[in-house]
Order: sequence, then C-alpha cells, then structure tokens
Amino acid sequence: PAKTMDELVSLCKRRGFIFQGSEIYGGMQGAYDYGPLGIELKNNLKAAWWRAMVYERDDVEGLDAAIIQNKHVYKYSGHEDTFTDPMVDCHECKSRMRADHMKDIKVCDNCGSTNVTEPRDFNLMFKTNVGPMVNEESYTYLRPETAQGIFTNFKNVVDSTSRTLPFGIAQIGKSFRNEITPRNFIFRVREFEQMELEFFCKPGEDEKWHDFWVSTRKQWWLDQGLSAENIEFEYVTGDDLAHYSKATVDILYRFPHGLEELEGVANRTDYDLGSHTKAQEEFGLSAKVKKNEHSTAKLAIRDLEANKWEVPFCIEPSAGLDRGLLAVMTEAYTEEELPNGTTRTVLKFKPHLAPIKVAIMPLKKNKPEIVALAKELKNKLQKLGLGRILYENTGNVGKGYRRHDEVGTPICVTVDFDSIEKEGAPVTVRDRDTMEQIVVPAAELPAYVVNYFIN
Ligand code: ATP
Repeated sequence: PAKTMDELVSLCKRRGFIFQGSEIYGGMQGAYDYGPLGIELKNNLKAAWWRAMVYERDDVEGLDAAIIQNKHVYKYSGHEDTFTDPMVDCHECKSRMRADHMKDIKVCDNCGSTNVTEPRDFNLMFKTNVGPMVNEESYTYLRPETAQGIFTNFKNVVDSTSRTLPFGIAQIGKSFRNEITPRNFIFRVREFEQMELEFFCKPGEDEKWHDFWVSTRKQWWLDQGLSAENIEFEYVTGDDLAHYSKATVDILYRFPHGLEELEGVANRTDYDLGSHTKAQEEFGLSAKVKKNEHSTAKLAIRDLEANKWEVPFCIEPSAGLDRGLLAVMTEAYTEEELPNGTTRTVLKFKPHLAPIKVAIMPLKKNKPEIVALAKELKNKLQKLGLGRILYENTGNVGKGYRRHDEVGTPICVTVDFDSIEKEGAPVTVRDRDTMEQIVVPAAELPAYVVNYFIN
C-alpha cells in the first residue's frame, strides 16, 4: 500500500486520476476534479456498490432524488439545528479549526498557541438562494447527505413497488458540507459523493439488521481489494453518537494519514421517518422528534399481523465514494523491485475496478495490417461491455507496459508481425501482476478476456 499521501497525490495528477479543483485560478480548498482515469475508477466503484446493494439483492430499490430540496426537509431532519461542528479561532495566527479533537486545554492546530476562543457551533450546510427574488424566505441548502431524499420519498417508493418490511432504498449522489478544515486530499472535502442505503425494518428486528449490515459492508470493502488488516470497527459511544442514533459502528480504514472513518453504519431507529411524517402522535414513536407542521404524508407501513400502521426503524450504511476511492488507491499502490534492479509502480486494482480493462498496442504503428487487426480487436472487446478498452498506437510497447502498470490496466495485448503472418493470428497477452506473457489466437481473445473479468 501507499505509505504517504504525497506519492498518491503525485501519481493521481501525473496519470490523470485527480486534479486540484479550479487549479488555474490558484485552486479551491476542499474541491477536487476527477480526470480521465479518475472518472472511470469512480464509476466502477459506484457500479460495484450498486450491483451488490441493488441487483444482487431482491429487497432493495434504487432512487435518485434532487440535490436541492424544500428547506422544510432540513428543518425537520434536524440539520438546521444540529448539523454543526465545534469551531475555535486562534487569536494569535487568526486561523480557524475544528475543535472536536481538542481536550480540556485547547491548542491551535496551526501555531500551537493556547490563546484560542471557546468552541462555538458552526453549521456545515451550504445555504443557497432559490429563484430570482432574494428575501428571508427564498433560501434552502445543498444537501449535506443523500439520505433525506430517501426518507421524503418513502411513501412514493412503497406505493409504486408494493414493498413490505424489511426492504431498503439505495442512492448514490453528491453531498456538500462546508467543512471548517478540509484536508488530506480527497478524504475530507466540501463536495463529495455518498453511497447510502436506508434499510427499513420492524422495530425489534433493528439490532439484527444492524449487525447484518456491519458485516456485509465490511465484506464488500474486502471485495474491493482492501485487506482485512487495514480495516477496523469503531463502536461509537457517548457524545460522539449522533442524537438520532441508537448504535453506530464506523468502518475505519488505515489511510496514509491514519486510521479513519470510511463508512458509518447507524441504527437510526424511527427518527427519520418519524420526523418527516404527518400525524406523528398516532404512531407512538420511540425517537424524540420535532413536531412536524408541514408534512402531507404518512411515512408508515401497515403491519398486517398487528393490524396497525407503524413507522419502521431504519439501518443506514453510509459510505463515502471519494474516501472509498482513496482507500482503494492506497491499497492498490505497490512499488516492486524487479530482478534487473529497477523498480516499477503498479496499481493492483481488482479487475472490476481498473479504469482501463485492456490496452491494445500494435507493435509497428506504420504497418497497416497490424494496425487494422489491433483496431478490430479493440472494437470486438469494447462491445463486450466490460468497460474501457484502449487502442493505443504509440509504437513503444515497453513504455506502454510501464504506463499501464502505473494506472492499473490488468491486461495489455500486443499485435505484431506474427499476428498477421502466422496461422491463427497469435497476439501476446501480458498480465499486469505477474508480468507473464502468453500467446492467444486473436479469435479466442474475447473469450479469454471475458473469462478474466467475469470471475
Ligand atoms: P467525519 O466524522 O469524518 O466528518 P461523519 O461521521 O460526519 O464523518 P457521516 O455523516 O457519517 O460522516 O457520512 C457518511 C460518510 O460520508 C463518511 O463515512 C464518509 O465516508 C463520507 N463523508 C462525510 N463527510 C465527508 C467529507 N467532508 N468528505 C468526504 N467524504 C465525506
């Protein structure tokens, strides 16, 4: 794995994974842009999550709710009142910082001075104006989590799919938090993506489902290539436990800057649906909620056995896509010493995550038959729907291998004179991890590649 953030940042920029946002204007703190390979990696990680959470289960539906919502959503969700971090200002160096890691004696992160203010609550939501008029009522917020769109659509999803408990709703999308101190590359940013599942179950079955999702989510991260020794659970307690949560388990990963949260799995009880439902008093809610004077929908489900309407409990596995990508890159980063004394940098991504699946390189870029066969193979493989297949005509295979090792391309295929002269059109297939080369007849290449990736 990568030892320092710097080596990742530099590879990300050099090879086109991630760039500083607004770089040509001096940058923008807490915002990053995903380049040609970053977007592929991100899409692959999202697709893997969606496959595992929606397609491979029969009790989860998908959703894509709007980022901009009615401001009442954040009034009743509790975000307007409580979505804050404690902040202190330093009188000496004038910097501002989060204070939740500071103990009784407060010390400035930047200059070490103890001459700092008392902590005060800073709300992390970005406020924005909606419509051409600007007045006291025309504001709303950019969503600080995707979850609220799931809760507000609970009735729509139940009515349109006839779901009964237990079932879940999954969503992937952008979230925004005006973090006091964004840092550590894409670990803590102001604009990021989340992959969230809200899994609804009967009260009383919540603890069982909470345990289930904690272990299921850990296994999913292992399937993305993270190693078990770099993952730990943290059972959140005391003041760190969110006010709505009955229990939260954070899944931590050993990032280059330390062991930190990758995903949180929370038992949110009936807090969310209970907060957004109308007629709250009818349900005997277990969570303490704000009295809702605006909701027009009952966010409850009919319990046929007990013959009554009930607000389900909710288990939420909430993962950060950007943090996930950082974890996957950290783990995949490998520097290897080769027998000839040189070193190579390889990103050992799991095949399904690799930004480029196969690179096809003609050995002679000016030989029309070689070029034609290479292009034909590219088109054939592209149609398999595995992801990006790159036809690359630089004529320098050695350099090509090095570059593709560095971006994690699992397979490189070279087309040479043998391929056009010999029977069966043999092409050379080179494996990223073993660096071994084997010869495969061109006609068998699609089957070889499918077999490699669908396993
Ligand atoms: P932290 O304590 O690190 O601020 P959190 O506990 O506030 O995180 P949650 O509200 O549980 O985070 O959000 C769920 C997930 O969303 C986190 O586990 C993380 O992966 C991701 N996430 C949250 N805030 C950020 C951020 N500022 N930048 C990138 N990812 C984030």
